[in-house]
Amino acid sequence: MSQTKTIALSILRWFDSEAQTDHLDSTNTDFSWLRVLPFIALHLACLGVIWVGVSAFAVWFAVGFFVLRMFAITGFYHRYFAHKTFKTNRGWQLVFAILGASAAQRGPLWWAAHHRHHHQHSDEPNDLHSPTQQGFWWSHVGWFTCDAAFKTDEKRIKDWMKFPELRFINRYDALVPLACIFIIYGLGEVLATAAPGLGTNGPQLLIWGFFISTVFLFHGTVSINSLAHVWGKRRFDTDDSSRNNFILALITLGEGWHNNHHRWPGSARQGFRWWEVDITFYGLWVLSKLGIIYDLKPIPAHIRKETLEHDRRRKSSSRQAAEDHNE
Ligand SMILES: [Zn+2]
Ligand SMILES: [Zn+2]
Repeated sequence: MSQTKTIALSILRWFDSEAQTDHLDSTNTDFSWLRVLPFIALHLACLGVIWVGVSAFAVWFAVGFFVLRMFAITGFYHRYFAHKTFKTNRGWQLVFAILGASAAQRGPLWWAAHHRHHHQHSDEPNDLHSPTQQGFWWSHVGWFTCDAAFKTDEKRIKDWMKFPELRFINRYDALVPLACIFIIYGLGEVLATAAPGLGTNGPQLLIWGFFISTVFLFHGTVSINSLAHVWGKRRFDTDDSSRNNFILALITLGEGWHNNHHRWPGSARQGFRWWEVDITFYGLWVLSKLGIIYDLKPIPAHIRKETLEHDRRRKSSSRQAAEDHNE
């Protein structure tokens, strides 16, 4: 294929992720500059803050949209589409897919397929985002640019393929983020005339509400691929290098209990003790009380027991160490 055609196709795939993907080499793990351009543009757009300034409304909007979409990624893309830890109806399922897609982390089926692969091959050579195999930066921002990571592995998400609406969102994965850009800009312009006291406008709300918010959201999410496999404590001796980390759990609304999650990916809750703050789970619990979702899968009794035994053992060994030190 000619160089020009390769470039044209790569650009086309920014909008249609299934445009002539048959020839893509699923073993090619080279970093692709062309594919990463929209991602770089997303970061550069944040510099627009120099021209648009700031208002309290724009900052709070950015924070609110961050939290909503982090919840959508962790609660829906991860705990629903990847792990099926609860049930819902088809209408809400579509809403969850759209909310998740607004995070600009590609479609729900692509995300779920990759994540299922990660659990099956965690920190093995073919885990595409393992910091212990390919280094920190690759696991954080490199892996998703390569050809091997691009296509949705349909074998891994057969359970979702029967929903044409999900396949559509997954194929045209830029649609929802682009719609957000227009809506947020429009909202800012409307507020500039309808509520001038807020001190915001289209460009300002767009930079804060979409670009800055999305960049923080991206780095928060992928910190689970990169940092949560090297920084923190290991309660369970899993076959991977996953860790539990309180700070990451706060940033990602509960995903920082990553060692717990690798030990038992099938429960809706990832904080296994009461003090392991898991905001996504609290949100899912509220949604279940509202009747929007149901059948939240609990932490099984044998995993609870294992958790308590580990913690008891750790406590007594640290007490022993302190006594030895004092003697
Ligand atoms: Zn992991
Ligand atoms: Zn998972």
